[in-house]
Amino acid sequence: MNEIRQDILTEQWTIYAPERAQRPHITKPQETQREHLPGSAAHCPFCPGNESRLPSIIQEIPADDDKGWQNRVVPNKYPVLTAEDGIAGARRGIYLTAAPYGVHEVIIESPLHDKDIPTMSEKEVGTLIETYAMRYGQAYRAHSEVVAVVIFRNHGSHAGTSLHHPHSQLIATGIIPHHISHEERIAKDYYDLNKRCIMCDVLESERPDGARVVFENSLFLTFVPFAAKVPFELWIVPKRHGSDFGLASEQERTDLAFALCDALKRYQATLGNPDYNYVIHSYSRQPTELPYLHWYIQIQPRLTTPAGFEMGSGMHVNPSLPEDNAAALRQECSRQ
Ligand SMILES: [Zn+2]
Ligand SMILES: [Zn+2]
Repeated sequence: MNEIRQDILTEQWTIYAPERAQRPHITKPQETQREHLPGSAAHCPFCPGNESRLPSIIQEIPADDDKGWQNRVVPNKYPVLTAEDGIAGARRGIYLTAAPYGVHEVIIESPLHDKDIPTMSEKEVGTLIETYAMRYGQAYRAHSEVVAVVIFRNHGSHAGTSLHHPHSQLIATGIIPHHISHEERIAKDYYDLNKRCIMCDVLESERPDGARVVFENSLFLTFVPFAAKVPFELWIVPKRHGSDFGLASEQERTDLAFALCDALKRYQATLGNPDYNYVIHSYSRQPTELPYLHWYIQIQPRLTTPAGFEMGSGMHVNPSLPEDNAAALRQECSRQ
């Protein structure tokens, strides 16, 4: 059984999941060339026809022609978290532990093994965002002890992908991750002092400045953050204040699909399909929208490897400047 332990010095939590060591790592040499992926793969549990390799199917969005499916939600076969064993924590000597309470789902984004978000239609990406929103809401509704839901996507082996078939993941936890409570405290202090949302002020600063802005549509702004931790990091931020991704409007979800697709196409054009992770940062355990928290998507390409300097100093070393990254991303797409 998995277990969560707290680092007594930093109060950060680590999940121990020894079963995940048995996960298939289908990163055979011929498959690392992603541009040569086949449309389906005999060994892939996410490809149609291989359903016997899935634990079950939780939800399916049918294809437009009613033949087959567009995307599918399944339980993670090697879950890090599970709702089966309750949320109880315990002391072990001087240390604190917690049960691995939560939800761990996989969102299979397409029946096609070689699809990827930049090659999906706008409508297909829109349907994926709809599925994100559905599962996000459901994780809170179905599990009363859940206090944080995180949706993320790993792309490429350096970003932690064990299967190439396009997929995202959702985890819901009974513990608020340390970095989230830290961000929330900073945002609350800023609001108490200025009576303003910190991210709304970031938007008001970035838009007119423009030096780090990469893309804008009616409801979203995409930019390289002022203190980007890694080269070409991007934030996609809704212009309307809201703390809860689950309360995004239909038009916001449509505009978000376009902005997300745009960002990943820019990576392809500029960086040649890099490995990356993206995460939806959202804050919805509170019953109402909060004026000081603002949801957003953070994307980090995996172009550099953290080393002893980062571990020792707690500071990232970014070998590029955010303003130069933004200029490159703006330019490359205008050539497409
Ligand atoms: Zn597949
Ligand atoms: Zn705001």
